[in-house]
Amino acid sequence: MAAAVPAGCRRVRCANLIPASLASEQLCLDHFLDEAFVRTDQTLGRCREGHSVNPVDLEWLLSDALAIVKNLEEHAAEPNPNQRDRMLELLLILANLHEYVAHHSLRLDRPA
Ligand SMILES: [Zn+2]
Repeated sequence: MAAAVPAGCRRVRCANLIPASLASEQLCLDHFLDEAFVRTDQTLGRCREGHSVNPVDLEWLLSDALAIVKNLEEHAAEPNPNQRDRMLELLLILANLHEYVAHHSLRLDRPA
């Protein structure tokens, strides 16, 4: 299932094809990773400032993680080392973020 959908990435001047796992995002893998890194960074930043993470952001981050896992599976036979490294790095950050959020909401449940 490594077939790309016929449409191209929605970014201007990007000629890359969209992998099947990113069809709903309309982005090629490189641009999806760019956006996912930015999203993750912003959410992590808000967490560290003591803001709670809104459930929509969390939902988004979870779907990012799922898209990455699907992508890793799709390209397991012909991995691009660079993209693979970025995907694994992002998964690690997302995992840390989920951990962080879990602890954070635990504190919110018990107001001082
Ligand atoms: Zn692109």
